[in-house]
Amino acid sequence: MTSILNADLHCHSVVSDGTLTPEQLAERAKANGVELWALTDHDEIGGQARAAAAARANGLKYLTGAEISVTFAGETVHIVGLGFDAEDPRMVQGLIDTRGGRDKRAHEMSDGLAKVGIKGAYEGALTFAGNPELISRTHFARFLVESGVCTDTYEVFRKYLTEGKPGYVPHRWASLKDAVTWITQTGGIAVIAHPGRYKFTANEEYALFSEFKAHGGRAVEVVTGSHTPAEYVEYAAVAKEFGLAASRGSDFHSPDESHTDLGTLPYLPGDLTPVWELLADRIQ
Ligand code: AMP
Ligand code: MN
Ligand code: MN
Ligand code: MN
Repeated sequence: MTSILNADLHCHSVVSDGTLTPEQLAERAKANGVELWALTDHDEIGGQARAAAAARANGLKYLTGAEISVTFAGETVHIVGLGFDAEDPRMVQGLIDTRGGRDKRAHEMSDGLAKVGIKGAYEGALTFAGNPELISRTHFARFLVESGVCTDTYEVFRKYLTEGKPGYVPHRWASLKDAVTWITQTGGIAVIAHPGRYKFTANEEYALFSEFKAHGGRAVEVVTGSHTPAEYVEYAAVAKEFGLAASRGSDFHSPDESHTDLGTLPYLPGDLTPVWELLADRIQ
């Protein structure tokens, strides 16, 4: 398979912090010309069977997926897993452990918001969470928009939910080694998600890529809805420098919020190894 493939290997459903069901996403992907698809909910594989069935019903090729929250150098990093066995107990238990703690963190976020006069944010965010175990900043953002505190979710993140702001609570997620190990030992490929989004120094970024590789990680997102075109070029070079395959994915969450729709990004640069070449025998 070549890099000229409309593969979209990163998006979210109501199972985590997206607003569409796995079935609605499959239909939207098909309508947008996607050929190979993966649903990558945050820390959760509960939507995988539905997504695979919906992909089949729509004539889409499918890879299992998840986006695992990891703490590295004091920052949250996302590692996407593709093509693993979603029923393997090592993956299932690892994600259960990663999800644990979101509820407590959400209460602390709500306490922080209450101090600046925003009451009932925990209960409000919960009404937006399809899966209460996965209550996330996105659900708080939707509640603050609905209650008129901000006009869109980006404004909520800027004013309330990022480092130093009243509703921001850091959390200790999985380790990089654990996330990469769960993915690779269950037959998948680990991918560094949207590296352009992390606020790392050059040294920290180098450490992330080298440790990721040492643990068995094999790919990086190059063309993603979270990168600028300049970052496609930058991370294409990083992929080559570290000998990593490249992935492509919109990171689509919602028709009302996401700037990048399923299947609408440019193709991967032709001189990179597409991650789907390494996953040929895992495609359903
Ligand atoms: P959490 O896992 O609870 O920390 O929430 C992370 C989620 O919030 C991400 O997966 C995105 O969907 C969303 N998010 C993070 N940062 C921003 C931002 N600056 N603007 C909009 N959405 C964001
Ligand atoms: Mn998200
Ligand atoms: Mn992410
Ligand atoms: Mn994502």
